[in-house]
Amino acid sequence: MTDLTTFTLAEARDALRARTISATELTQAHVEAVAKARALNAFLLETPERALADAARSDDRLARGEAGPLEGIPLGIKDLFCTAGVRTTAGSRILGEFTPPYESTVTAQLWRDGAVMLGKLNNDEFAMGSSNETSAFGPVVSPWRRAHPSVDARPPHAGSDEVGRVAFAAYDDTKLVPGGSSGGSAAAVAARLCLGATATDTGGSIRQPAAFTGTVGIKPTYGRCSRWGTVAFASSLDQAGPIARTVRDCAILLGSMSGFDPKDSTSVDRAVPDFEAAVSRGVKGLRIGIPKEYRLPGTPDEIAALWDQGAAWLREAGAEIVEVSLPHTRYALPAYYIVAPAEASSNLARYDGVRYGIRVPGRDVASQYEATRAEGFGREVKRRIMIGTYVLSAGYYDAYYVRAQRIRTLIKRDFEEAYAAGIDAILTPATPSSAFAIGEKASADPVEMYLNDVFTVTVNMAGLPGIAVPAGLDSRGLPLGLQLIGRPFDEETLFAAGAAIEAAAGRTVLPDAWW
Ligand code: GLN
Repeated sequence: MTDLTTFTLAEARDALRARTISATELTQAHVEAVAKARALNAFLLETPERALADAARSDDRLARGEAGPLEGIPLGIKDLFCTAGVRTTAGSRILGEFTPPYESTVTAQLWRDGAVMLGKLNNDEFAMGSSNETSAFGPVVSPWRRAHPSVDARPPHAGSDEVGRVAFAAYDDTKLVPGGSSGGSAAAVAARLCLGATATDTGGSIRQPAAFTGTVGIKPTYGRCSRWGTVAFASSLDQAGPIARTVRDCAILLGSMSGFDPKDSTSVDRAVPDFEAAVSRGVKGLRIGIPKEYRLPGTPDEIAALWDQGAAWLREAGAEIVEVSLPHTRYALPAYYIVAPAEASSNLARYDGVRYGIRVPGRDVASQYEATRAEGFGREVKRRIMIGTYVLSAGYYDAYYVRAQRIRTLIKRDFEEAYAAGIDAILTPATPSSAFAIGEKASADPVEMYLNDVFTVTVNMAGLPGIAVPAGLDSRGLPLGLQLIGRPFDEETLFAAGAAIEAAAGRTVLPDAWW
């Protein structure tokens, strides 16, 4: 019998519609895969009964020919999305057993379109992190393992469907991070526990974990997906988006997740294009920019080489490759680490032990707040709240926050100028390294972890769409991704160009289950 967890989302959708498989058997296969994969710690909550009830409803609709665009498709939901009647933690202890009485707009749209919920996925606490190690419920373990350093695990022929086959000839069993903050989403998709997952991206949390796990992730334009019912981190940067195993699967999911929502004042009232149709559009005549400021000293040679390879693939597919300049790039990371904590400190003021989650009693109201927040928040969240409160305080507001906002405007303008000069999309590496070991960067200097976001934060600062696509493996057999950055509301070009890279690179063969 075929293993139903090896289908892509598009293949499963087509098989369901052709009635060669049922939603119930597809869901059952994934429920079992989730239960066998607890060593990965990807799911914080499994909802098998809900999943099978959803699947039964889908089978009825499929039988009546009333299938929605995602009818019967099993998905995992990042635990930052509020799900009505289903515990939502945001990866934090402070929310306790919080069970929202309402559903986020993004997830409501997925259920409207027929998707099946397998459960809630682990993430960094309040989405603050790049490795999923700040979750109050423990780190997620990547399904990938790296080859022993003495083995050259690079595939013999990138560009064929063999990519990744030799990677596990001689692995060491060091546990690796899946990236973050959407680490549970990326790990679950790479481990074939679900056909796709929701994720969120404030500074790179969709694209970086996708790059670390050989999966595809898109952060759409700010305003494309409603933020309503998604736990807030930094409201002017946060966007929801999908992680899935192919560019096409991401396009299908984003179609359901997108759309105007009057409940989110930053949601943009624009028609949702047929993203899936854009996947096969090709790249002929597109002008792809290569920003010279992204050639950072210290970037591993393998990543620089892959970036050149990606440009060559796009050129061979018919695009024109042009050097561009984004001169304020080097200020993006420091400015992000002022703006994001500032907004976080304000958003997280609501966790006071009165309205949501845990409450630690004190002598009076102020001491109750203090005790609750001391107990409920983890170290990284406390660090962000302190940085944010400091940069917003009366004496420092102009020196830090206002200047960071000015830099943000300059970063946005850099992109506007490139696009005004006729550039359709910009190609960069997705991350400055492949996945690292759990514990390797967590303890020492927090800035070391922040540097992971060097290629991704500019996109959030400018509100633009960005996609990460797997493009090859490094010498230890670990996935590396390339990023494409688009014009505002032009996710379609990212799907077209992302599909061209995917086709040239060959589909990454995902790791065999060792868990
Ligand atoms: N790693 C970045 C941070 O810690 C981005 C996180 C995210 O995109 N949610 O802030």
